[in-house]
Amino acid sequence: MAKIDDSLVQRFKKRSKIHDLLKQFVEQKCPLEELQKLKKQIKLKDQITTQLLLDIMMEEEGEVSNLALLLLSECATPKVAQSAERLLNSPKLSDIHRSRLAAFLLLHQESRQIFMKSKETSQFLEKFLYFLDAFWQQIDPLDVGRIWLEDYNKLRAREKISILKALFSTGSACYLPIYSIELGSPHVSLSRFVADQLSNVDHENTLLMLQSFPELKDTATRIAIEHSIKVLKKKRRNGELELRSQKKLPAFYRAFVAEEESAGFLSVIFAKKLPEDHIRFSFTLIDRWDQGILSCYGDLAEDLKSFNQIVEMLNEQSGLIHYYKVNRDYAVWILRNAEALSIERGYSLHPEYLLCRCLLWDESPSKKDYGLLFGMECCECGAPIRMNKSQGNAWMLGDIALCSQCIKKKKTCEHCGRPIIPEKAYALARADMDHITLICESCYKDTQNPNE
Ligand SMILES: [Zn+2]
Ligand SMILES: [Zn+2]
Repeated sequence: MAKIDDSLVQRFKKRSKIHDLLKQFVEQKCPLEELQKLKKQIKLKDQITTQLLLDIMMEEEGEVSNLALLLLSECATPKVAQSAERLLNSPKLSDIHRSRLAAFLLLHQESRQIFMKSKETSQFLEKFLYFLDAFWQQIDPLDVGRIWLEDYNKLRAREKISILKALFSTGSACYLPIYSIELGSPHVSLSRFVADQLSNVDHENTLLMLQSFPELKDTATRIAIEHSIKVLKKKRRNGELELRSQKKLPAFYRAFVAEEESAGFLSVIFAKKLPEDHIRFSFTLIDRWDQGILSCYGDLAEDLKSFNQIVEMLNEQSGLIHYYKVNRDYAVWILRNAEALSIERGYSLHPEYLLCRCLLWDESPSKKDYGLLFGMECCECGAPIRMNKSQGNAWMLGDIALCSQCIKKKKTCEHCGRPIIPEKAYALARADMDHITLICESCYKDTQNPNE
């Protein structure tokens, strides 16, 4: 008897110790880099620790519990996952705790396998997702999308569709970040499926997302998007659409642009202010000559001050390239043109960009044309200039280009008529002319020394 009590006391002591460490971590707002230290302190790899973390997750509220969940998702053994599955079915559980368990199981490697086994999948998954909804409500939408990108992006289109089906069956708008990613998928079976199903996600954000989406190449997807927009507009008129909470609307905060003119690169920072002064921002790298959106990264800054520090830091790190403040219209105009260019030239939109695009859902496009060139073409024949394909080397003079085919045609000096080798000749170009003049070395020297 005494022995059992002893071990219970030991367990209780250990539990309080871990609990205190987690609480301390949360209260001190420790940055995530400190997480490694915490993991060592609580001996995360121990079997007993994982069991205790599960206890803490189920008994606590708020951030301590979320931290326990985060730690658990990295270390849980199959045994812990099994007890979590058993707990999930316990009738005594509160909704919030049940949702947390469901999230844990979703994050846990081995339980995730359950989703992949096709037979039991749908029933189990549906029950599961129902619990999860309460959990997603508390999670940053960008993180919901990132879980999808990290854990599910490698699946084949067919497997993705079976999971998406289950997500759509909940009708929840929490999954919009995931839908945005797959709506722009290079697999038309996915983009068509999502475009079609979105008419059943009865939320104002669904409509905004669809209306702001760039014109895709695939006709069937475009038609499905138009149809879903029609259905959702009708639902809005009938008051069947859940509207955005006016108190929580994000508002445009600031935008910055940096340019690398000689390479046609642009970088755009687009930031919006959320309730409680958090700043959500995206950082998008653009190749305005050919590929459009190159990469994107989205994040959340605690407050205005830390956001401004991030911009300052970027300016210090990037040396010559400088971020300058621009107005909302210009930033939106650049992003919209860049995504249109990606699509026009047959590149698929970057998944992280499709995720961060939620910042643009309610930003109406600017009507003004800012005159910056998007999509480099050969100034003589109009062929699109590709940066990443081996079409031979095109010539670039600022925003003016000559394709390799047109270069080959240049065989004589335009001034004296003598034969030339294009690579060794001198090219003269003006932005307002659709022609590049090639002259030989001696004619070039004459222009340099007109008196001789
Ligand atoms: Zn050409
Ligand atoms: Zn000449």
